[in-house]
Amino acid sequence: MEKLLAVLGNPIGHSMSPIMLNDVLEMHNIDAHYLPFHVENQDLPAAIHGLKALGVLGFNVTIPHKTAIIPLLDEVDELALSIGAVNTVVNENGKLIGYNTDGYGFLKGLNAYITTLSDKKVLVIGAGGAARAIYFTMAKMKPQAVDIANRTIAKAVELIEACPFDTSSKALSLVEAGEQLAEYDVIIQTSMIGMHPKIAESPISLKNLNNQSLVCDIIYNPLETQFLKEARQQGATIQNGIDMFVYQGALAFEKWTGIFPDVNRMRENVLLQLGGVKC
Ligand code: NAP
Repeated sequence: MEKLLAVLGNPIGHSMSPIMLNDVLEMHNIDAHYLPFHVENQDLPAAIHGLKALGVLGFNVTIPHKTAIIPLLDEVDELALSIGAVNTVVNENGKLIGYNTDGYGFLKGLNAYITTLSDKKVLVIGAGGAARAIYFTMAKMKPQAVDIANRTIAKAVELIEACPFDTSSKALSLVEAGEQLAEYDVIIQTSMIGMHPKIAESPISLKNLNNQSLVCDIIYNPLETQFLKEARQQGATIQNGIDMFVYQGALAFEKWTGIFPDVNRMRENVLLQLGGVKC
């Protein structure tokens, strides 16, 4: 019998996950279908109960339910618990287990550019939900340093204090980060700045950028933010948010099916959905 996979969110109509994941389910001959469900906050417990009763294979959770779902699950993986957000749920013999694949998704995408982090100084810009997943996962990998810059410094401090892994991270203002930018080998932009429709904005000055640095932006709409455009013009290597999106989905797929899917095909599919661009 065909198995059910799902994504719960609000809004959910824009999600690119169903096309991306149904395509690889079909390619790998897996008898399952991935469906989007619009779920209001007050309906989340009933939705989870219903999915469990239907014997769902697993599901993704997106904004605004990533934190609210935690007490509704049977178990939550340690990293997801410390991040305080779940984006992937697996039905393991009737038990719903929560994971967070956002941070590892980002890290896997980074592997195309960087093999080890132990000698790298990393700057994370932003201190919201995505930054939290990336920062904790980065800290677990023990880079030489991983600092956080945010508009609201108190939130960067909070993130550093909440991190379960040993770090000597510094919290910086956006201006300080711009001034000290030359120190960093990897710069990861995770704030909302530059996202459609405010595409002309950039979170920090890149005047002091070292052109040997890798500059990442987890935004993928637009594919090249103003921040990435400036970094590219200064000669740095750049990476947009497509890889993180594709790899977080691929890692979820692997948890549900035991198969690591064809990420190039997934990337191509996402690019097509974003405007007809071919890899
Ligand atoms: P969030 O939790 O709401 O955090 C937003 C962050 O943006 C905070 O650090 C916030 O700073 C900062 N910010 C917002 N408006 C700002 C402004 N006007 N000036 C300076 N900083 C500002 O959001 P999130 O869930 O982390 O998502 C952040 C971005 O990541 C979004 O663009 C989202 O699309 C993208 N994302 C991509 C992926 C992927 O797979 N590629 C996955 C998840 C998220 P304050 O703390 O000062 O408010």
